[in-house]
Amino acid sequence: MNLKAPRGTKDIFGDEIYLWQYVEETLREICRYFGVNEIRTPIFEKTELFQRSVGETTDIVTKEMYTMNTKGSESVTLKPEGTAGAARAFIENGMYSLAQPTKLYYITPAFRYERPQAGRQRQFHQFGVEIFGSYDASCDAEVISLVQEVLNRFGINDVELKINSLGGNECRKKYNETLKKYIGDNIEYLCEDCRERFVKNPLRVLDCKNEKCADVIKDAPSVIETLGHECRNHFEQLKENLNNMNIKYTVDSKIVRGLDYYTRTVFEFVSNNIGSQSTICGGGRYDNLVYECKGPKTGAVGFAMGLERLIMLLKEKNLVKEKVRNIDIYLGSIGQKGFLKAQKLGYELRKAGICAEYDTVKRSVKAQLKYADKIKAKYCVVIGDSEIDEDKIQIKFMEKSEQLNVKLSNIKDEILKLLKEKV
Ligand code: ATP
Ligand code: MG
Repeated sequence: MNLKAPRGTKDIFGDEIYLWQYVEETLREICRYFGVNEIRTPIFEKTELFQRSVGETTDIVTKEMYTMNTKGSESVTLKPEGTAGAARAFIENGMYSLAQPTKLYYITPAFRYERPQAGRQRQFHQFGVEIFGSYDASCDAEVISLVQEVLNRFGINDVELKINSLGGNECRKKYNETLKKYIGDNIEYLCEDCRERFVKNPLRVLDCKNEKCADVIKDAPSVIETLGHECRNHFEQLKENLNNMNIKYTVDSKIVRGLDYYTRTVFEFVSNNIGSQSTICGGGRYDNLVYECKGPKTGAVGFAMGLERLIMLLKEKNLVKEKVRNIDIYLGSIGQKGFLKAQKLGYELRKAGICAEYDTVKRSVKAQLKYADKIKAKYCVVIGDSEIDEDKIQIKFMEKSEQLNVKLSNIKDEILKLLKEKV
């Protein structure tokens, strides 16, 4: 039997898990400042939800979904992204009847059957924010400012924000025609996939990563040129809002994003430091989605950030020191009486918020001290019969060759005092 983890998945543990926890805690804290509340939706949904929302012709739906039939022969799919589930929950739980906007965030695994490579996995993780209940460009700017603040907090300053507008339904139709004409004239230079995309959804061609197609795409007509008055205005407002908050951006009319539900604003944050999978974060406005999923007409905007890529960037640039486990005290012991005392004390210290460790593998005293050193315990004691009988203990300071003699019965207070003095 092959007992390896499935291709494109990773175990996260050891020092690495501290980095993940630090990143996640920071993201949660930032969301608190931005008034965004967490939502946890199921890891699988009815397949139809993704077909309808992400779009029948997108790469995700046509090639990348983990779909299965349940025993009741219902088709369900592991979530390939977070927006569809959030929108479904928004409708199903009647959140639209509360005071708007509804601001939600999630940190979730997502699943796509793709070719694994650096920054691309089959199970990966997304941090996403969705704001429901407003059509105004100030909301687009608000979600972008949240991403910008994430980058600021982690000290990332060389990621570029690219914005574009795909327009509303009307402009979209008009642009599709212009684009169809242009692509039709150049169809012979496109890859197999794009020839098919041309028939089903020409906008998807602009998202192709094939070099052959890039040559054609680069001279394609700009979507911004075809925007109607209102959509143009919306885009101008977004720019004004971003300028107002001093958030730098460039307009890139080739950004279309890989999902069908976007309307008007789309944006990406792109890094030059993590190789070819360079998009850290993508998002945009999706004013039709809630309605198409049988909810009331609701403006909405959001983004999703790939946590693997964010963490790659942090590591690449050495922006966070991986936190090592902090052990306050190692309670060594000699003999069964000593062990029982160390165990009891260890439990009490832990209840008092002190990180304490004691021997559970029956090491010799010498090996226990070596281990205390290895796990970088700040303090260490050894409890034997005489320490218990005479109610005294010597606290060793592991970093310096100093020690302190105290009463064994007072050790909790003494340790708490020492830990306080340190800060
Ligand atoms: P890409 O162009 O890299 O395939 P995408 O357009 O498919 O990205 P979205 O669906 O917008 O990506 O997802 C948002 C973010 O999630 C991406 O910007 C990326 O950081 C991350 N992401 C997407 N797919 C993967 C994956 N297979 N492995 C790791 N991260 C991913
Ligand atoms: Mg993709």
